[in-house]
Amino acid sequence: KPTLYLVPTPIGNLKEITSRALEVLNAVDVIAAEDTRNTKKLLMAYNIQKPLISHHEHNQATSIPQILNHLHNNDSVAVVSDAGYPLVSDPGANLVKEVIKEDYAVVSLSGANAAMNALVASGLSCVHYLFYGFLENKSSKRKKQLDELKDFPYTLIFYEAPHRIESMLQDVLEVLGDRNMCLARELTKLHEEYIRGTVSEVVQVAKDKKGEMVVIIEGKPIKEETFDMKTAIEKVDEYIKRG
Ligand code: SAM
Repeated sequence: KPTLYLVPTPIGNLKEITSRALEVLNAVDVIAAEDTRNTKKLLMAYNIQKPLISHHEHNQATSIPQILNHLHNNDSVAVVSDAGYPLVSDPGANLVKEVIKEDYAVVSLSGANAAMNALVASGLSCVHYLFYGFLENKSSKRKKQLDELKDFPYTLIFYEAPHRIESMLQDVLEVLGDRNMCLARELTKLHEEYIRGTVSEVVQVAKDKKGEMVVIIEGKPIKEETFDMKTAIEKVDEYIKRG
């Protein structure tokens, strides 16, 4: 059965790609790539030669039918983005929807994802979390988005560009308050770094930092329920009465 493979690629360190991902990239008939020049570099490093199709946000009206046509002709197709998982703050969502609609198989491989690397090393809770991706660029819209998240009791994960990190963290401080956070940058690369502290502490250090960044913010602290003696006695009475 013709299959669409979703193949995660390294987020920095070129070695962080699974042997299965390389096997699939070697085996498929064609690779749909967000940026064919970037993907060519990866393929060259692993000595893989494959026809590439450019597939991104701005050409999906033509690239999706092209990919569907390959599947129709019994070709299997791998989808990759520039880094990490395709579809995760990257192109591919509409393609997957169309492929599912046409009843072809969709298979997703394990691999690198910046949010997950950052979350597990952040020191903040990993039990429940919300991956938000990128906030809006404009401060007014961004604050509105943050406002919708302010009562959420779970760890929040954002992607952010270095030139916006200072203003983004200022907005976080204003809307969410001075919570604990972790800024994880240049993950899996030579200058990987975790900056942990409260938002007001981290913003002072982060404003001079460059590179790729994930921002992890503690969820709204859950208040312990206050113990109500009267209700407790009533509950015990009720329990005794029931036998
Ligand atoms: N698809 C990718 C994934 O699965 O993680 C995310 C792609 S998104 C266009 C790019 C953003 O991811 C960057 O702006 C940054 O916020 C984050 N990112 C990607 N690689 C990273 C790295 N090595 N270290 C820290 N953040 C990274």
